[in-house]
Amino acid sequence: MKSVSFLLTLCTAFSFLHAAEKPNVIIIMADDLGWGDISCNGATTIKTPAIDQLAAEGLRFTSGYCSASTCTPTRYSLLTGNYAFRAANTGIAPPNGPAIITPGTPTIASLVKQNGYHTAVIGKWHLGLGQPRPDWNGELKPGPLEIGFDHCLLLPTTNDRVPQVFVQDHRVRNLDPADPLWVGERKPSPDHPTGITHRDSLKLDWSHGHNDTIHNGISRIGFYTGGQKARFRDEDLADEWIKESRQWIGAQKGQPFLLFFAAHDIHVPRMPHERFQGKSGMGLRGDSILQFDWCVGELMKIVDENHLAENTLFVLCSDNGPVLDDGYKDQAVEKLGSHLPAGPFRGGKYSVLEGGTRTPFLTRWKGRIAPGVSDQIVCTIDLPASIAALARTEVPAGGCVDSMNLLPALLGEKDAKGREFVLQQDNNGNKFGLRVGKWKLVREKNKAQLEHQLYDLQKDPGETENVAAQHPQERKRMVEKLHAIIASPQH
Ligand code: CA
Repeated sequence: MKSVSFLLTLCTAFSFLHAAEKPNVIIIMADDLGWGDISCNGATTIKTPAIDQLAAEGLRFTSGYCSASTCTPTRYSLLTGNYAFRAANTGIAPPNGPAIITPGTPTIASLVKQNGYHTAVIGKWHLGLGQPRPDWNGELKPGPLEIGFDHCLLLPTTNDRVPQVFVQDHRVRNLDPADPLWVGERKPSPDHPTGITHRDSLKLDWSHGHNDTIHNGISRIGFYTGGQKARFRDEDLADEWIKESRQWIGAQKGQPFLLFFAAHDIHVPRMPHERFQGKSGMGLRGDSILQFDWCVGELMKIVDENHLAENTLFVLCSDNGPVLDDGYKDQAVEKLGSHLPAGPFRGGKYSVLEGGTRTPFLTRWKGRIAPGVSDQIVCTIDLPASIAALARTEVPAGGCVDSMNLLPALLGEKDAKGREFVLQQDNNGNKFGLRVGKWKLVREKNKAQLEHQLYDLQKDPGETENVAAQHPQERKRMVEKLHAIIASPQH
């Protein structure tokens, strides 16, 4: 017996050492959260105490970016380390969109998994499921489990699109086979209630689009019927994902893990839990920021409950910049007051100006990252290569081609450098932004003609004055650089 218990002690000691060598990673991605939407970046109308705590205990990046100014392409790049414009059909995914990431593609999850990590994605997916389309009543594959995740609890699309059900691993959770789920692009029957025919019944009115099938008093994009037992209330999304995260992290018991927590806050329809409604004084958009902040606080608590704070790297980011009216009359515009969602930057969601992609970016690892502020340029697309380095796993040749290993910069190591350049794309890669140091190039297409603007971010962070005419050499150099990056990945 003695030798068995000695062996157990040895095993426990070894697994502790093992775990310490492989720190856990929690990536928290907000949805449509702007640079200026958090109080540690200067917001005063809204307070985000949990996010501020994370920043105070870690690194706050002033030049943290996501790679695109809409949901799907940024998420695609965060997982694959490839710019979304290099692949087809990576714009905002429709309700019945197929899996965008092909099984076999190296992802941040598959990379760490090959070195013993457990992996989960909890939250909004919006990267398509199934092939050639989702089989809502059968197995939903390929999906996250085919590209490196062990577990998922997902909002399959985005919540202004149908359907409002959870996908757990390969199935719609709580789906009653007697009440199958049907999802489509056309009205399933002439009398099917919609946001147009039953507008008076809505608890949150639409402002543009978003007027097809009604669920929970909110009309959405797309149509669906059935699956009544499987449907969630919008107000419960965040609570459900925190509950799942607590359970999943608690079950790891010393096993190194990577959790991708993809919040739906503060995307439309903004319908946070009742306990947050009316609390920000800024309408449902502000209330959703409070709910997101609560989620961040809960995730920190969960890590503390499991005594993992000194063995867990947190990364907090957003998938694109802010938007006010994104299809619902939720008073985001009317109750904005003096708040600046994009901080000092111009543009927001859908834009390649700084406000579209320069977004909140924080890292925390207690005992490892010295608290502070970093002006290094970092981007969500760099997480696969950086986290692979952290997990001591190899990125295979041809994988994650646009992802740079910025681990030293993310950990705030002395003299560590971030990116020399950062490329920004819109939803479909029709517009590009390129920042190199203080210079920012914006490329737009106008009647098939390419137009290039140049801004000096040092003098003009709001990108108000196009100085291309005054700096022809800089403009030329930047245009050539942009074309080179578009043509092939550059490190
Ligand atoms: Ca988004």
